Amino acid sequence: MKKTVLTGIRPTGNLHFGHYFGACQNWLKLQEDPNYEFYLEIADIQALTDNFDNPDKVRYNVREITIDMLSIGIDPKKVHLFIQSKIPEIAELTVIYSNLVTMARLYRNPTVKTEIMQKKALFGHEGESVTYGFVGYPVSQAADITAFDGQLIPVGEDQLPLIEQCREIVRKFNAIYGETLKEPEPLLSKNPRIKGLDGGEKMGKSLGNGIYLADDDETIYKKVMSAVTDPEKIHKNDPANPDVCMVYYYHKLIGSHNLENICKECKHGQRGCVNCKKELVTNMLEFLKPIHEKRAYYEANPDVVDELLIKGTREAREKAMKVMKQVRHAIKIDYFEND
Ligand code: ATP
Ligand code: MG
Repeated sequence: MKKTVLTGIRPTGNLHFGHYFGACQNWLKLQEDPNYEFYLEIADIQALTDNFDNPDKVRYNVREITIDMLSIGIDPKKVHLFIQSKIPEIAELTVIYSNLVTMARLYRNPTVKTEIMQKKALFGHEGESVTYGFVGYPVSQAADITAFDGQLIPVGEDQLPLIEQCREIVRKFNAIYGETLKEPEPLLSKNPRIKGLDGGEKMGKSLGNGIYLADDDETIYKKVMSAVTDPEKIHKNDPANPDVCMVYYYHKLIGSHNLENICKECKHGQRGCVNCKKELVTNMLEFLKPIHEKRAYYEANPDVVDELLIKGTREAREKAMKVMKQVRHAIKIDYFEND
């Protein structure tokens, strides 16, 4: 029996470098592994928890993020790429799981806590206006994972507390209703939390510090030019510390060929920041070229994108219906023969 890989992305904006190097590289590897069945969710319902007042944004980004996925090489023949809201079993599971978790536990979840504080405009300065839906999104995420028997969850580091929360729900469910659900394990990449060019601890769509795979040449240039460098370096020929420079960080991340030289020249004051940034732009554009070419194809062929989503969603629904049957049976709400 194949194990299930399950992961997801919120349609709140395009794919950024943080996604690619923090999570997607593992996805590309896992889609080639015959030991796994891979489900990749576009989490539109989760995106609505903090974008409920902007449904157009979520709707638009479902297509955008799908094109991004296809452009980086996610292969819909190997991956079930699907839309969360089209799987009603996830909503049903969310309601069932909501009995198995306390409000206090949800409020203690470090990721939820951090995100409430980051969204002051929406949830108030002290989080006093936070909604039931947002505090509860880890419960819905537990449903996302278990609806497909998700066992291996390749994610960035910010997701660890959410997976832990899912594991607790699974254990509680199994203890009360009998062994039914599988406990998921996270899988991190070697760079599990990619920083923003602004030096921010996490590049994030909602943090306004993303450098997107879909960005055009000019946008990339502008973003890189504004990247944070060593604040101690004032003049072009001052020696600097590459370890605190976001330009060097990104040279490392995308594997710039002359890394050793960059580091040495920077330390010895032989490298101006503007040139160093220009080199980074060139390397990034080279990295992005094949991705942009694929994107252009899918942008010109929206029907192909729709067909792939319809197919992936149909496949995912089949799996979720099977799991749901077992869950209904376990909690004794399988009243009729076909339930
Ligand atoms: P949002 O701000 O809307 O939450 P996001 O940029 O955090 O967007 P998500 O859709 O929440 O992106 O995350 C998709 C996946 O990418 C998750 O597995 C998440 O852990 C991972 N990820 C997101 N940002 C980073 C990052 N900076 N470094 C590593 N992994 C990341
Ligand atoms: Mg996020």
